[in-house]
Amino acid sequence: MENSKVQLAIVGVGKIVRDQHLPSIERSGCYDLVATASRNETIDGVDAYKDIQAMLGDRPDIEAVSLCMPPQYRYSAAHYALSEGLDVLLEKPPGATVCEVEQLAELARTNDCCLYTTWHSRHGAAVDVAREFLRRADVEIQSAEVHWKEDVRKWHPGQEWIWQAGGLGVFDPGINGLSILTYLLPQRIFVESAQLHFPLNKAAPIAANVSFRTASKCKVSAEFDWRIDGDEQWDIELMTNKGTLCLSSGGAQLSLDGQPIEVPVHSPYGEYEAIYDKFARAIANKESAVDLTPLKLVADAFLLGNRHHVEDFVE
Ligand code: NAP
Repeated sequence: MENSKVQLAIVGVGKIVRDQHLPSIERSGCYDLVATASRNETIDGVDAYKDIQAMLGDRPDIEAVSLCMPPQYRYSAAHYALSEGLDVLLEKPPGATVCEVEQLAELARTNDCCLYTTWHSRHGAAVDVAREFLRRADVEIQSAEVHWKEDVRKWHPGQEWIWQAGGLGVFDPGINGLSILTYLLPQRIFVESAQLHFPLNKAAPIAANVSFRTASKCKVSAEFDWRIDGDEQWDIELMTNKGTLCLSSGGAQLSLDGQPIEVPVHSPYGEYEAIYDKFARAIANKESAVDLTPLKLVADAFLLGNRHHVEDFVE
């Protein structure tokens, strides 16, 4: 009998693969994880290769790949996989540049493959509840503020790539807030101004403040900071004519004027389970799901931003 599960491989085994991809793939029931390609890391019981070329050369049974290495090193693997006719899932951010991902989307169309640019935070337990509220005809959004702050030493220990060009610095977590914001708001936003704070010894910002413009009078801003000692803050506050809606804990909790709103119960893997469900549906329908909006906003913040130098960052 033919195996109806997608024969999946992972490229770039690291923190997010172990924390989220592996349990979510296992719980999905739609995939057989048949191989990995990673220079140093392996997963017990799964065939391991050093790179994607060696893996696909040896394993014609592989139908889809999840690319989980840092964004600067993803394009050539994605291009190779799509050229070989495989379906491709890209961790966030989908690439180091906007144009490379547009080119991958074109290649996926040409080769009749599925390309999926994931934005895991959009699948937070409270995000769709917030979106429904904001899309009500009687709700008018007056302003929105993203506050995305965490301790870089706690969340990104030893991740040298994140400080290098293309690693996005504080926008690596910050883009999660922007992915939710652009999913929630009914109108498009674009960068009006940005202040980017670069440690003298790093190629990526440690903090940033961004103001956005909209076609309406709605004021939108975002503050990203990695220099936090205490608890992280991953919140979006939306001031509306019906009260202040606060989406907190990275999209897991919701309140209106301080009163909690009930949201669906998610497992700790809820966001990535939703991602793998969506990927399975996209593969079945041969339909790409490509949204570059959060990456474009970050790219525009780099284009337009004033750069300020701050003290060296020493881990
Ligand atoms: P990571 O653990 O630092 O890196 C993942 C793996 O990529 C590494 O174990 C390494 O495996 C490979 N890699 C690292 N540098 C490389 C290079 N120069 N060339 C080729 N491969 C390299 O990173 P991560 O935290 O898993 O994050 C990976 C991606 O997931 C990022 O885009 C990040 O934004 C996203 N993400 C992370 C989290 C999180 O909580 N960490 C959450 C959501 C999304 P080998 O050495 O074995 O090749």
